[in-house]
Amino acid sequence: MDSRRRPVMAGNWKMHKGIHETGGYVRELVAALKERGAPPDCEVIVAPVFTSLAVAQQAAWGSPLKVAAQNCHWAAEGAFTGEVSAAMLRETGISHVILGHSERRQHFGETDAGVRGRLAAALGEGLMPIVCVGETLEEREAGATENVLARQLEGALEGLSAAQLAPLIVAYEPVWAIGTGRVATAEQAQQAHAFVRDRLRRLHGDAVADATRLLYGGSANPDNVAELLACPDVDGCLVGGASLKGPSFLAMVDAARRQPGTRAG
Ligand code: PEP
Repeated sequence: MDSRRRPVMAGNWKMHKGIHETGGYVRELVAALKERGAPPDCEVIVAPVFTSLAVAQQAAWGSPLKVAAQNCHWAAEGAFTGEVSAAMLRETGISHVILGHSERRQHFGETDAGVRGRLAAALGEGLMPIVCVGETLEEREAGATENVLARQLEGALEGLSAAQLAPLIVAYEPVWAIGTGRVATAEQAQQAHAFVRDRLRRLHGDAVADATRLLYGGSANPDNVAELLACPDVDGCLVGGASLKGPSFLAMVDAARRQPGTRAG
């Protein structure tokens, strides 16, 4: 981690937790963060399912906890059954949205162009995007990791200005590490993050490259998080399984707050 960037710990709940469970979890998390003095030294985000967003936002209201959606559509409204627009998410009061998660790409055919459209819509509504990129095992074994990351990143960010990209967060999530218990080594994570930051620098300049928080995602948990966060270009984690239980997610938040590079404010 680099002290110029405020760390982020974001929990992606995927298709878990309805309204009741969400309310209870968020209230407990808010109380735990308050006990820690409402930490300004780590940005904490949870991403519930669409139907739980409003209840999460209500429970987090007035606290430092931020709430994210797991996707949004590129259109403001229209004949898109099953989709939700960025404007509709904005109305719930949430601040962030995850885009281009590999499960969306794998199971729902999401493309780089689609991610780009969703990203533009999110930015247009003032939502802070967490754009996910990452290679499959076959792509890594074929030596194509950097090509894949470059394609996904450039495809998503094409045509957007440095000013528009100011709130951008990118999550590097190797597909082979998501939900598998197989975590990338710190060296693999740092290499991929350094590559992403370098691409951001070449495409969008120093300000975007130096300010964008790069999160690692893929079987991160309380036991491996400190090693990942010690990498200079890892600014936090996007956490699936280990975010579903309050104590393990909080342990990861605490690990981020303990990192020597962590800055307050
Ligand atoms: C994710 O879904 O973004 C993720 C990283 O999942 P897990 O931590 O369970 O691998």
